[in-house]
Amino acid sequence: MSILLFFLLSLFLLILYRTHTFQKKSGDFLEPKKEKIDPERAIENLSAAIGFRTISGKNPEEFERFISFLEKTYPRVHGELKREIINEHSLLYHWAGKNQSEKAALLMAHSDVVPVEEDTEKEWTHPPFSGKRADGFIWGRGAMDNKNNIIAQLEAVEELLASSFKPGRDIFLAYGHDEEIRGPDGALAIADLLKERGIDLYLVLDEGGGVMEGVIKDLSTPAGLVGTAEKGFVNLKLTARSGGGHSATPPTITGLGRLARAVVRLEAKKMRPRISKPVREMLNHIGPEMSPGKRLVIANLWLFHPLFIRKFSAFPEGNALLRTTVAPTMAEGSKASNVLPDSPSVTINFRLLPGDSVNDLLDHVKKTVADNEIEIEVLSAFEPSLVSDGRGEEFQFLRDRILETFPQATVAPYLVFGGTDSRHFEPVCSQIFRFSPMKIKGTELKRVHAVDERISEENIERMVSFYKSFLEKI
Ligand SMILES: [Zn+2]
Repeated sequence: MSILLFFLLSLFLLILYRTHTFQKKSGDFLEPKKEKIDPERAIENLSAAIGFRTISGKNPEEFERFISFLEKTYPRVHGELKREIINEHSLLYHWAGKNQSEKAALLMAHSDVVPVEEDTEKEWTHPPFSGKRADGFIWGRGAMDNKNNIIAQLEAVEELLASSFKPGRDIFLAYGHDEEIRGPDGALAIADLLKERGIDLYLVLDEGGGVMEGVIKDLSTPAGLVGTAEKGFVNLKLTARSGGGHSATPPTITGLGRLARAVVRLEAKKMRPRISKPVREMLNHIGPEMSPGKRLVIANLWLFHPLFIRKFSAFPEGNALLRTTVAPTMAEGSKASNVLPDSPSVTINFRLLPGDSVNDLLDHVKKTVADNEIEIEVLSAFEPSLVSDGRGEEFQFLRDRILETFPQATVAPYLVFGGTDSRHFEPVCSQIFRFSPMKIKGTELKRVHAVDERISEENIERMVSFYKSFLEKI
């Protein structure tokens, strides 16, 4: 047998072996567990909660009314937990646990919602602040983002208090009031306070992932995606100081021409794609559940890495998982068709992959644009989050709770594209996870921040059940 043939046969066997041994990581089968809960009360309370127009940065009186609504609705929580009001509208609850030597866990959510665009108000099936119950859903702004989490968590605590339950470790509940405008007075202030008090948390659970149905192609089960990291965010404004003038006598290249060239260069030469840690861990968890072809490729990334990168980055979500993305979003020229703009500009939104820093991006942009006549200004920027451990005991704990409520799911770490309030807690916690215990179809996800946001009554029941089990076993 020739050496080449021997080599090919060995390679073939190795690929088959790796594919065959690429097994589900989910471990022991867990009995699906239905916590006894009263979904009716939670549903009614969420419906009422949506009625408060707690729009970020507006309507302070609505936030105050919402806080008194919570006080009235959850008397045990407010009687037995210590509550602090931070910067007038954010809430921090502290529930003392049995074992003071254990680190505390923190559940998060936010009370603010994005506004409803005036011209879209009439497109809603039910008015956006009605909290209307219809067709098995609760409708309105905040139904999924994010009053559902506040209500489900408080509901779980209220019920546990009714049976004189005390958690194993201390529990904090933190509800910011400005998440949709980056959380400077809410989550950040709460995190600063915890840091000041020398608190080091066991884990933080915030919104971000969920049990997704039909979102990952070729995955036969629902995907319980737990965000173990989130991408960074940079807005750059590129300005060409071109001096204006009459459009009848333009220079060889105009300011707008320079900017257009810069955008084309940035889109053509993006930062290198890479399988970052959260994405590698995601692939390790969902790979075994995929179709045989994909399973073979994922089990043998040592060989198929280039093929995988090419195929996976061909669609927007896959691309966003693999690299720092580039999205020009705003542009400005002159006010008239015959006037050259004096200083035309374009604003570009980048989302940074963990491992790429804001400085790496700036270097890349300067080098790629390669035009001294273009000024580059950083409008806003934050680094990618730290990456939580997708194999540690904190993740396993969450995975087990998810499987109790969603026994069919394949639970996996993943990378969150958007920003959440949870990143503010990095100074007080190394294990931050982003997951809301609800089942979401891809089409439902499009309603968040848009028309006809809603949540199914079934999901409310699942959420309360999940949080109860979380609190009982943490
Ligand atoms: Zn949110």
